[in-house]
Amino acid sequence: MALAFEDMDFGPPDYKDMLPATLKDNYGKWKYHEHIKPGVFKHVSESGKEVYTVRTGGPKFISSATIREMCDVADKYCESTLRFTSKHSIEWIIPKKEDVDKLIKEVKKMGLPVGGTGNAMHSIVQCTGWVHCHTAATDGPGIAKAVSDELIDYFQRDDLPARLNIAASGCLNMCGAVHCSDIALLGMHRVAPPVDDSIVSTQCEVPSLIAACPTYAIKPKIIKEDDGTTRKSIAIDADKCMYCGICYGLCPGVPLANAENDGVSIWVGGKVSGARGGAAFSRLAIPFIKNNPPRWPEVIDAVKKIVKEWAKDARQDERMGEWIDRIGWTAFFERTGIEFTEKHIDDYIFSVRDMNVGSRMKGSVLKKY
Ligand code: SF4
Ligand code: SF4
Repeated sequence: MALAFEDMDFGPPDYKDMLPATLKDNYGKWKYHEHIKPGVFKHVSESGKEVYTVRTGGPKFISSATIREMCDVADKYCESTLRFTSKHSIEWIIPKKEDVDKLIKEVKKMGLPVGGTGNAMHSIVQCTGWVHCHTAATDGPGIAKAVSDELIDYFQRDDLPARLNIAASGCLNMCGAVHCSDIALLGMHRVAPPVDDSIVSTQCEVPSLIAACPTYAIKPKIIKEDDGTTRKSIAIDADKCMYCGICYGLCPGVPLANAENDGVSIWVGGKVSGARGGAAFSRLAIPFIKNNPPRWPEVIDAVKKIVKEWAKDARQDERMGEWIDRIGWTAFFERTGIEFTEKHIDDYIFSVRDMNVGSRMKGSVLKKY
C-alpha cells in the first residue's frame, strides 16, 4: 500500500505540535512585546492574554539528570514545555505573571543565570570542540565557559550600548557561527597535517583523499620499498593547506591537531542584522594566542579589554563593528592596546572575486572596485 505524503517519515516534526497551549491559542495574534527586565520579556496578544518569557544561559553539555530537573520546573510553571535556542539559552514561557519570580528563583537555584536579552551580552554560541571534533584547534565550549564566567555581569544586565554577540569555534569551519559576531574566538591551526605514510598507504583511500582537498594541496606520492615493490601515499603542499581538516576526516594518517602550534585568533565587528550599515563579517583583531586551557586567561584579558573600550565609548545601539568603523581601526588598536602586525594585512588575492559571490556583499564590493 502506498503511503500518503503526510505519513512519510522525513523532515522534522511540525513545531506547532509542540507549542505550549497558550502560544497555540494565540498563534499569529501577538500584538506587541516589552523587555520588562534583564532576561524577561512580556508578549501581549490581541485577545489581551499576556505571556512571559524568561531566558537563562545554559551549558553546552547537559546531563539527563539536569534536563529532568528542568522539565520538573517546566511542568510547574511553563505548561510542560521549554525551548533551547540556537545559542544554547533556555527559554521558559510562563502564562501566569505571578509565576515569573518563582521560576527565576528555582532556575537560579539550579545555577542557571537569567539574562542575555536586550543590550546585554547574549549567550556565547559555540561549536562542539575538543570533546567530539577531530578538526578542533581549540575548545569552543571550554573558551565559551571561561569567557562567560568572567563576563557574566554583562549577561545579567542590559545597559551595554547594544547587544554583544560572542561566538567560539574550534576551527575555521565555523560551526560556532563566528563569522558574523561582535567578538569571534576562532581556533587556528598553523601547520599542515604531517603525513604518516604507514597509515595512509594501508588504511586510506588515496584518490578520495586527493579529491577531497579543497585547495589541491594533496598530491599522490609513490613510495619505493627496498624489495622493489611500491606503495601509494600522499604529500601535502604546506603553502596551499588552509587547515580545514577534511583530509583528516577521511584518513587517520594526517592528524591535524598540534598541541604546540594550535591556538585562538580573535575577530571583531561582525553582525548578522541588516540594520543601519547591514550585515558584516568579523575582522581580524588578534591573529594568534596559544591555547592555555582550562581557563584561557590571555583570551579573557583580550576580550575584556575590547568590551571595556566599546562599552565606554560606543553610542546608543552602536554595535562593535559600527563603533570601530566610526573611530577607525587605528584608534581601535590604540585604545585596546592590541598590537597591529603584518598578519592584519589581507593579501589573499581572490577575496574580491569570492566576496562578489555573496548576494549581500555584491553591491558594496562592486561599487568599491
Ligand atoms: S568549528 Fe571546527 S572544531 Fe568546531 S565542530 Fe566545527 S569542524 Fe569541529
Ligand atoms: S587540511 Fe584541508 S587544505 Fe590542508 S591538506 Fe587537508 S584537506 Fe587540504
